[in-house]
Amino acid sequence: MSSKVFFIKTGCDDGEEIISQKARQLFKAGGFASCFKQGDFTAVKVHVGEPPNNTYVKSPCIKGLVEELLELKTKPFIVDTSTLYTGRRHNAIDHAILANEHGFGISGLGIPFIAPDGLFGTSETAVQINGELNKEVFIASDIVRCQSILSIAHFTGHPAACAAATLKTLGMGCASRKGKMRQHAAMRPKVSNDCTLCGDCFDHCPADAITLDDVKAHIDRDKCIGCGECVAVCRFGAVKYDWGAENRLLQKSIAEHALGVVKGKENRVAFFNFVIFVTDGCDCFDRQDLPKIVDDIGILASTDPVAVDKASIDLVESRSGTTIPRLLGKDKLDPRYQIEHAERVGLGSTDYKLIEVD
Ligand code: SF4
Ligand code: SF4
Repeated sequence: MSSKVFFIKTGCDDGEEIISQKARQLFKAGGFASCFKQGDFTAVKVHVGEPPNNTYVKSPCIKGLVEELLELKTKPFIVDTSTLYTGRRHNAIDHAILANEHGFGISGLGIPFIAPDGLFGTSETAVQINGELNKEVFIASDIVRCQSILSIAHFTGHPAACAAATLKTLGMGCASRKGKMRQHAAMRPKVSNDCTLCGDCFDHCPADAITLDDVKAHIDRDKCIGCGECVAVCRFGAVKYDWGAENRLLQKSIAEHALGVVKGKENRVAFFNFVIFVTDGCDCFDRQDLPKIVDDIGILASTDPVAVDKASIDLVESRSGTTIPRLLGKDKLDPRYQIEHAERVGLGSTDYKLIEVD
């Protein structure tokens, strides 16, 4: 049977309050209240924004969804995990302060920000999944312990995973530090002799993994966290992955970690994709005012994480009239590889029925 994916049109031109109202309308129309029970500790997974990036989903846009959870008398709390790279989300203290500045806390939404992976990103639970790459995955412990999850993802392109939405929000965004390292382990770009020594990659590398000598840039594989930022910023095409092998391992591992996040929470997680302000890089990229790569589409929601991502990809490609790899200028990437692996490991279905909500 096809998974139901609910869809409502909206866009940045509507303004944050209308976007919030439409997300709430979608929540009601899709019957997502059934995922949440009175007294649940409900994790509301978001990306609170990583300065200077300013194209993430802003907190007022999710206010209506939070109000729904409060009306259902759950105990919702905003969650996001510590990043591998040094920045404002590198540990729970800095992350909570940033979340509050961006309205993702008690002052903005009336609920607290709580780092589910502890102060340093090391509070984790090993979840057995028996995947193709991972027999067990390492997930933020309070994500595992809470009773239900409202996952709110921003759909964007990504230089390695090709598309970043629900699966990446779950797999990477809910993993502990060790879980993230495992996913990135396969991704180590290399610098070719096309390097002009411009220094852009050095300036943007969040892990201080790049050095420059008289000939070209070099990447320290022990420091590199595989984020792909250097690949994205190099204007000379001098930093490359072995796309044929490495990015596919990352995509598979993200899907397997996502499986670990939802294991034991069948029908207790609702997945929302905000397909507005779609940019070529994810919200972690330290670039401001990234341009949209496709017109705003709206919000999609489902209880099936595979179906909601598949439907989002299909709508973006239909709206743009081309494939996401072509939109990103990376023909060798394929977002479906991750989706299909997620389906193979039992996370959900690529067979969906899109139901538009007026
Ligand atoms: S951004 Fe590219 S060209 Fe510039 S230093 Fe880095 S690898 Fe070399
Ligand atoms: S992928 Fe590039 S930017 Fe990211 S940590 Fe490695 S060297 Fe630095």
